[in-house]
Amino acid sequence: MKVKRAAKYGFCSGVRVADIKVKRFARGGGRGAILGQVVHNERVVEEMAGLGVRTVKTMDEVADGVIVFSAHGVPPSFHEGARRRGLEVLDTTCKFVYDIHHASQHARAAGAHLVFVGDPGHREVIGYTHDLDPAFYHIVHTVEQAQAVDWSQYAAITIFYQTTLNAEEYEDVVRAIEDANPKAVRADTICYATKENQDAARVLASDPEVDLVLVVGGKHSANTRHLHDICARFKPSYLVQGVEDLDPAWLEGVACVGLTAGASTPDYVIDEVEQRLRELAPTRA
Ligand code: SF4
Repeated sequence: MKVKRAAKYGFCSGVRVADIKVKRFARGGGRGAILGQVVHNERVVEEMAGLGVRTVKTMDEVADGVIVFSAHGVPPSFHEGARRRGLEVLDTTCKFVYDIHHASQHARAAGAHLVFVGDPGHREVIGYTHDLDPAFYHIVHTVEQAQAVDWSQYAAITIFYQTTLNAEEYEDVVRAIEDANPKAVRADTICYATKENQDAARVLASDPEVDLVLVVGGKHSANTRHLHDICARFKPSYLVQGVEDLDPAWLEGVACVGLTAGASTPDYVIDEVEQRLRELAPTRA
């Protein structure tokens, strides 16, 4: 049996860099706490805890030492909050997320109303909006939400996308705002990491050689489930959290398995799945 991986899968560059920074810090003897999960993956949380960097929900849980801010970033006031508590900050915020922080601050200073297309509960979006007066921004996720606002009342509007979305899929949402106010502009801050993983999954699943696709990732991870939906349109596809979910019956009569992974899946979990596949069936090329 052959195993073929998608051209792009798993951690985006921002999460990969954050993961490396925290591990380097821990292996150098550093001890501290991460505010919120580095990625939405329990294996990564356990791994970090094993290295001496536990995950906390709020800064109140950290009495001293180092607080790690994850790739998705935090509200600017959290830096001040850490200083007030006497905590040292290890900031692993992705540079693309910082681009949005800076661009949205400039747009606001220039008088624009801000629109964030994304999930109001996502830490990245909370990072952009937490410190803002609610009168100065909206968060929208659906066309209905976009149509429910009178956008014509704003002299200028700048639209930003949560980086973990595939911006193309929110075209209708953004169009609804632009149709209501022709002065609305889209910020040039789109991160293509999610789209690249989705495009690569589509190519893999539509490859005639691939009989079956395994998507590795958390069952509660929205982007992993989305990858699975894409692959299932082309081939029988299964979402597995790790080797423990593999069912050998799936592989009967299968000559080639396609492998992809959600953005919160570390490389070693994907490697374990591939290794197990190779144990379950003789390998070719
Ligand atoms: S999805 Fe893009 S912006 Fe967000 S952390 Fe990853 S690389 Fe950075």
